[in-house]
Order: sequence, then structure tokens, then C-alpha cells
Amino acid sequence: SVSLRDVHLAFGANRVLRGVDLDVPRGATACVIGPSGSGKSTLLRTINRLIEPDRGDVLLDGRSVLGDDPDRLRQRVGMVFQQFNLFPHMSVLRNVTLALRRIRKLPEDEAVAVARHELDRVGLAAKADARPAQLSGGQQQRVAIARALALQPQVMLFDEATSALDPELVKGVLSLMAELSAGGMTMVVVTHEMGFAREVADTVAFMDRGVVLEAGAPAAVFEAAEHPRLRQFLSQVL
Ligand code: ATP
Ligand code: MG
Repeated sequence: SVSLRDVHLAFGANRVLRGVDLDVPRGATACVIGPSGSGKSTLLRTINRLIEPDRGDVLLDGRSVLGDDPDRLRQRVGMVFQQFNLFPHMSVLRNVTLALRRIRKLPEDEAVAVARHELDRVGLAAKADARPAQLSGGQQQRVAIARALALQPQVMLFDEATSALDPELVKGVLSLMAELSAGGMTMVVVTHEMGFAREVADTVAFMDRGVVLEAGAPAAVFEAAEHPRLRQFLSQVL
């Protein structure tokens, strides 16, 4: 499970998170929606401590991440970004084995076995020896997902994982994410894909000006929104 408790964070005078509360039970998928600049990426980044909150707490399976060793935390929390952040000069296989060797300290042959298994799972076993540039954007994103999954995280975070993709490539990545969700992965997904949020999320959280203004089941959020700002947002994106 992932819980944010009254998380505050400011960049100078810019108060980006102003008391964020969010609960994602183990095995559940939460989609975070909201206007640009509302703090969605910042919220995600506090979960794996790419940023430290000024105040409040972030709990993973009931334990605060704030005192945790960052390397151990990165193993428990996988993150996938809009830009895939693959190393261009390495093969697909090497991109996946790198973290296994550095973070999980696996010997080469074991790392390769795990990486091949994960690449197979995302449908890219045949591309192991290719360079990222030889893959489509959708395939590159699936490699990034395989790389994160290889560490056997307890939680996966996605920050607009499909926003940089050509429209015809979005579906493949979204269906992989839906499969992961159905398989019981705990996920926090920042997304503009309202169809995905409606179909896959257990909880949809609407961020506005640094707080989760409204959260609930997709049907409640999309069809019976309480806050005018959420209704206004939905009228613009649906
Ligand atoms: P988008 O939908 O455009 O991705 P977002 O909801 O993810 O927006 P954030 O990226 O969390 O928004 O940014 C929220 C605010 O925090 C913005 O005003 C942004 O300029 C500011 N901000 C984010 N990261 C930093 C940083 N490292 N240093 C200073 N300001 C930052
Ligand atoms: Mg963002």
C-alpha cells in the first residue's frame, strides 16, 4: 500500500503540495488526474524520494519511506516516466540488466535470465540485442516498464507514460499497464488517459493547486463529481 499523509512541499515561495492525502491499498491502482502544474509529478516523486517533503509522511506498506535507504527504496518502488530514459548506447538487454546488477547485485548470468524473462513478459524478447533507437516509442516504453519490473517492486509509479507516444502506440502500453494492474500490482498512475482511468483505476484522485481535492471510485468521480473545479476540468478533457 501507499499512503501520503498531509504532504507539503514548496519550491521557494511556490507551494506545490499543500497537504496531500492519498491512500492506495495493496494491489489497487490509483489514477491521478488534474490540470498542468497542480503537483501531480511532484506528488509521485515524493513516493520514491526523488524529492523530500517539507512536512507530512509517505508510507509504504505502513512504514515511512523517509528514513529508508534510497537504494532499497528504488528497488521497492519502480518508476516509469514520459521520456523513457533508456541508455541509448546500450542494448535493450543491458538496459534491463544494469539495475539488476547495480541495485540487486545479481551476478551477470542471473541478471540476464531475469531480464530476458521480463522482456518476454512485455513482448520484446526478440529485441534484446537491439539499441533503443531501433525500437518504436511504444516498444521503448515497454522496455522501461520491464526494467522497472525486473527489480520486483512492491509499487509501480507511472508519470504520463504514454504522453510522448504516437497515438497508435498508446494502446499497447496502456494494455500492458492494465494487465499489470489486473495482476495485482499496486500502482499510482498520473495520466491524461481518462478512458484508462475509468476502466482500470480503483480510485481516481483529482489534484488541484497542490491538494487532492476529490477522490473516489471512477464512476463517482466521472459521473457524480462534487467539486465545481473537478466538473470544469472534466468538461475540458472528456
Ligand atoms: P503537468 O501536468 O504539466 O506535468 P504537474 O501536475 O505534474 O503538471 P508538477 O510538475 O508537479 O505539475 O509541478 C507543479 C509546480 O511545481 C509547477 O509550478 C512547477 O513549476 C513546480 N516545480 C516542479 N518541479 C520543480 C523543481 N524541481 N524546482 C522548482 N519548481 C518546480
Ligand atoms: Mg507532470
